[in-house]
Amino acid sequence: MQFKILKTIFASAIVGLAGLWLLSLEPGALTGDFWAMRKTLVYGTGVLALGLMSVGVILAARPAWFETPLGGLDKFYRLHKWLGISALGFAIAHWVLRKGPSWITDLSLFVIPPKPPKAEEVATGFDLFRYLKEPAVEIGEWAFYLMVGLVGLALWKRFPYKYFFKTHRLMPLVYLLLVFHAFILMDRNYWTRPLGPVLALLLTAGTVAAVIALFRKIGSSRQASGAIATLLLYDGNQALEVGVRLKTAWRGHDAGQFAFVNFDDVENAHPFTISSAWQNDGLLTFTIKGLGDYTRTLASSLHLGQGVVVEGPYGRFNFHGAGDRQIWIGGGVGVTPFIARLRDLAAIGRSYPVDMFYATNAPDLAFIAPIRQLAEQAGIAFHLVDGSNGGRLTLQSLVAAAPDWKQADVWFCGPRGFGEAIRGAMVAQGLPTSRFHQELFEMR
Ligand SMILES: Cc1cc2nc3c(=O)[nH]c(=O)nc-3n(C[C@H](O)[C@H](O)[C@H](O)COP(=O)(O)OP(=O)(O)OC[C@H]3O[C@@H](n4cnc5c(N)ncnc54)[C@H](O)[C@@H]3O)c2cc1C
Repeated sequence: MQFKILKTIFASAIVGLAGLWLLSLEPGALTGDFWAMRKTLVYGTGVLALGLMSVGVILAARPAWFETPLGGLDKFYRLHKWLGISALGFAIAHWVLRKGPSWITDLSLFVIPPKPPKAEEVATGFDLFRYLKEPAVEIGEWAFYLMVGLVGLALWKRFPYKYFFKTHRLMPLVYLLLVFHAFILMDRNYWTRPLGPVLALLLTAGTVAAVIALFRKIGSSRQASGAIATLLLYDGNQALEVGVRLKTAWRGHDAGQFAFVNFDDVENAHPFTISSAWQNDGLLTFTIKGLGDYTRTLASSLHLGQGVVVEGPYGRFNFHGAGDRQIWIGGGVGVTPFIARLRDLAAIGRSYPVDMFYATNAPDLAFIAPIRQLAEQAGIAFHLVDGSNGGRLTLQSLVAAAPDWKQADVWFCGPRGFGEAIRGAMVAQGLPTSRFHQELFEMR
């Protein structure tokens, strides 16, 4: 369901921009042979590239009011990615259409028909647009090469995240250069036609978002600072529980939401689910597994009293389903949103029928015992799937424990492959996709 919305928005952005551009053309602009249409197509691909990139840049600034319609920040970062890839596709087409004729001439591949003579232009004093035309062409070309490099690095998964993150910070600058390029070179008639107001809105909002990003102000209004109050390492599964006592205001959160957590100024903020329920006491807990270069160092590098900046909350993995029956599936450290929800329900002291499956390859009794206890308090059926003993959660094993699973909303958080397998099996057996809710544990 959430992906359906994302796909619909993505397709609408492309179709909508293309439609507005078509409506803004002079009659007959797309008639004649390819050479006659080339200039129009250069403009069209440019408009699409910059329009889509604008939406992507706006989303990158984390406007929290998009979370509900788009299903959470983790989802709209996925949309940001698709927009970036498609913008790059249109930018490449724009570049090829613009540069193609000179390559063809240089390589003497064939003779390009001469351009129709232009109407005599009468110079009427200083024309800023004409004056800036050459620099705008140059700047656009170099910004395009940078864009190719930066999107390429973003898509190259083996390029470490922390370096990707640093290089991607150049993207707002690239965007601003492309806005300048388009503003100077685009067909000025577009501004007074259907495309004009929409493009003006996108470029203005995109420019604001890019400036916010360049000044590192993204999410600044949702930040709170505090200090580490508790640290507890579970040896059996290497999960580190970090308790943070906030010193500044926090707007509260729903169980299942996440925050960007910054433990020091050198490393970027990382997203972690808040594994505690909000009790209005300024306390937040994060359960962090050493899954990469940085998180593996935390158990030895964090210390009590250390300053922390938390930004959030974000996400819509909030257990608000259509019905009352729920099935929760947590894989590995993907159990964290369920711990928060258990704490919530145990505090309230009531629940609705829930079966919770926790699949782990590193069952740590000290870690599992409080989860089991919270589940008992909330009246939730807890099922441990012990991967270290060869146990696997399949649809068959799930059906055996929860025969009425088709009536349930399923909430899944865990490795992507596991999620896709169980979702595929459930949907194939008739579960509506709208009833399968999945947190995306990766943002790239
Ligand atoms: C919504 C959400 C909730 C999460 N909740 C938890 C949780 O409760 N507990 C937990 O242990 N892990 C959680 N994660 C995963 C956690 O963010 C990564 O494991 C951690 O950031 C890895 O950092 P690293 O430098 O050690 O690993 P790396 O090896 O550098 O990165 C591994 C992967 O982690 C992601 N990642 C790394 N750095 C960042 C960053 N700064 N911003 C965004 N993504 C990054 C990337 O997908 C990357 O490919 C969550 C992730 C998301 C998106």
